[in-house]
Amino acid sequence: MERILEGKTGIVFGVANKRSLAWACAQSLAGAGMRLALTYMGERMGKTVKELAGELPGALALPCDVTRPETIDEVFATLREEFGGLDTVVHAIAFAKREELEGDFYHTSKEGYMLAHEVSAYSLTAIARRALPLMEGRQGTMVTLTYIGGLRVVPNYNIMGIAKAALEASVRYLAHDLGPRGIRVNAISAGPVRTLASSGVSGFTRILDHIAEHAPLRRNITAEEVGDACLFLAGPHSRGITGSTRYVDAGYNIMG
Ligand code: NAP
Repeated sequence: MERILEGKTGIVFGVANKRSLAWACAQSLAGAGMRLALTYMGERMGKTVKELAGELPGALALPCDVTRPETIDEVFATLREEFGGLDTVVHAIAFAKREELEGDFYHTSKEGYMLAHEVSAYSLTAIARRALPLMEGRQGTMVTLTYIGGLRVVPNYNIMGIAKAALEASVRYLAHDLGPRGIRVNAISAGPVRTLASSGVSGFTRILDHIAEHAPLRRNITAEEVGDACLFLAGPHSRGITGSTRYVDAGYNIMG
């Protein structure tokens, strides 16, 4: 792969294991020469993520729970020390209560609603605000991950769909705020991929089968395809693109 990101630095939030879309993004960015920090949520995931970071040259593994803002502060203090500046932020974090990812949406509790938004949508803004001082003057990029359930009704996706709608709107507002500083913000709307998070959505296998039957490409996507789209959005070839949601979904979004 061409090393178009040599000398650049980035942080990827949301690595849980080898199946994580965040890990696919990290591999594509590191393959193009970017030095990375990966974040993980709890010590439970720490061992795996430290091992994964060990596969990427010079990568750091840092703990971060976005519901504890002091841990986001600590991440950026470490980045300032270790990297000096920052070119790319990848946000690949989402959470909703498992019992609210099935059945009727109107059963969503206030607590579950707030938690899904805090972790899956607000965290992008909380991270962007802290990243900004490190990204000034570097033509930086931010990339987040969303799903078509934020735009259309996907049964069982429920509260996560509402949070993804907020996330996609946040991308547009952040792009407006940060564009004058040369920072671009985009989302990738990925087709379904089997991961730890997606296994929490009731009926996920049926969704995979439906895509394989109906998407224009007649197949599901791979995590690597998401990683390469992230590389495109983080790199110079997308320099004219900001505030957008790009679909990496085998074309499913065009179907009526
Ligand atoms: P994943 O591997 O389970 O990644 C989700 C990540 O979010 C995990 O690393 C998880 O950490 C982290 N997370 C949850 N709560 C957090 C918190 N409070 N603070 C910090 N991190 C937290 O699943 P994934 O499918 O790759 O998900 C990545 C992103 O892609 C999500 O935004 C998801 O909605 C999006 N997406 C996924 C699909 C799909 O089909 N897989 C499709 C479209 C979009 P722990 O595991 O340690 O809790």
